[in-house]
Amino acid sequence: MKKRITIQYIIIAITAIILTLVLTIAVFYRVFTTEMINDLENYADILAGTGVFELEGDFNKVPDIQGLNVALMDSDGNVEYDSALESGYRDNQKDMPEVKDALEKGNGHSVRHSDTKGKNVFYYTLRLDNGKVLRVSKESGSLLGIFSEAFPVLMVILMVMAAGCFILAHILTRSLIKPIENIAEELDGTVPGNVYRELTPFVSMIQKQHEDILKNAKMRQEFTANVSHELKTPLTSISGYAELIETGMATDADIIRFASEIHKSSKRLLTLINDIIRLSELDVMDQQVDKEETDIYDIAYNCVSMLQLSAERHKVSIEIYGKHEVIYADKDMMEELVYNLCDNAIRYNKKDGEVFVTVDDYIDEDRRKHVVLSVRDTGIGISREHQERIFERFYRVDKSRSKSTGGTGLGLAIVKHIVAQHGARMTLNSDEGTGTEIRVIF
Ligand code: ADP
Repeated sequence: MKKRITIQYIIIAITAIILTLVLTIAVFYRVFTTEMINDLENYADILAGTGVFELEGDFNKVPDIQGLNVALMDSDGNVEYDSALESGYRDNQKDMPEVKDALEKGNGHSVRHSDTKGKNVFYYTLRLDNGKVLRVSKESGSLLGIFSEAFPVLMVILMVMAAGCFILAHILTRSLIKPIENIAEELDGTVPGNVYRELTPFVSMIQKQHEDILKNAKMRQEFTANVSHELKTPLTSISGYAELIETGMATDADIIRFASEIHKSSKRLLTLINDIIRLSELDVMDQQVDKEETDIYDIAYNCVSMLQLSAERHKVSIEIYGKHEVIYADKDMMEELVYNLCDNAIRYNKKDGEVFVTVDDYIDEDRRKHVVLSVRDTGIGISREHQERIFERFYRVDKSRSKSTGGTGLGLAIVKHIVAQHGARMTLNSDEGTGTEIRVIF
């Protein structure tokens, strides 16, 4: 980028220099031509004023002016006198434009290029009172001549200027690029102050992405650490009990107890691994959801039936309300979602508590219909400070209660994923000690 900008600067500068030079020379030459003709006109006037050309054949008195040619022609164009001519012969000049003009209008001028001398000759003609034509002329270098004479000097100027341009272009490019380079160094802070206004949205976007990447990386790292930690506990217990049996010192009764502990821990391990696999599947799947027309009431109904037994065990009642509503969703995921919410509502409930599962709809201000699934319980509730965090992976308000009821801390994280993949949103309403309601709005 730097190189390109520098090159462009240099091209612009050199083009400007050359154009200026050419135009200056052209203007200068025009001014010079006018001046020359004016000079010649003055000479002609002065010479005519001396009156020497009124006298017949007496041209000795014609003043000799350095570099100036003087000629006199009769009204037919025959040359009577020419200061540049030794012998008195010269072609008839009647057809020369300046002579013609003088004969017709009183004066005339012209410029002719002489190939033999490589110079331009300027002519000025004046018709005298006696009808003869006085012509004064002067030589000068042609435009090309002047140009080629000045060429070496021009070249030097051009090169000095080009070198100057090169250095300037380099400095300018550097100062132009500097703020952009700064962006990369200050990515994690706020938008650098000296950045171009046009780039601010771009920088903000990159910063946001950068932050997201960092956050994601941190989350993954934490997740991995949590996974290892969670897997370690049941494995340690399995290994411990197995070791005790291995020593052969355990009684038969012990062995049965140890085996039951091993069974419990391995079941926990399996649940954990299943949830972890499910989460990473959902992570990878992103948007490839197998959606179809799904009656969410039917799904909720099945789920409630399935959990009836578990509810009884927890001394909790679970009921379904509402009406049939069809949404466009992945059936398996919907089952998972309802199951997780209802399972939590049962597990974090109180003795003789209740769970209400409701499927309903409503029309919003934009006249769009929304289907709402609500799972409400009269359980222990969640205090305000935990409410925001319960959807995080492995986050549990009461770890031992979660564990003792077979929780992994991943259920709501899975729910959150499923909700996001269906373009739905979730609201949480909970009071500690009173109960919790989670609503999923499609
Ligand atoms: P877990 O497997 O521990 O239940 P979840 O992700 O399903 O994990 O829930 C995270 C935490 O949120 C739970 O440990 C619990 O503390 C809290 N929680 C979830 N649902 C409820 C609820 N209905 N009532 C009270 N607390 C709840």
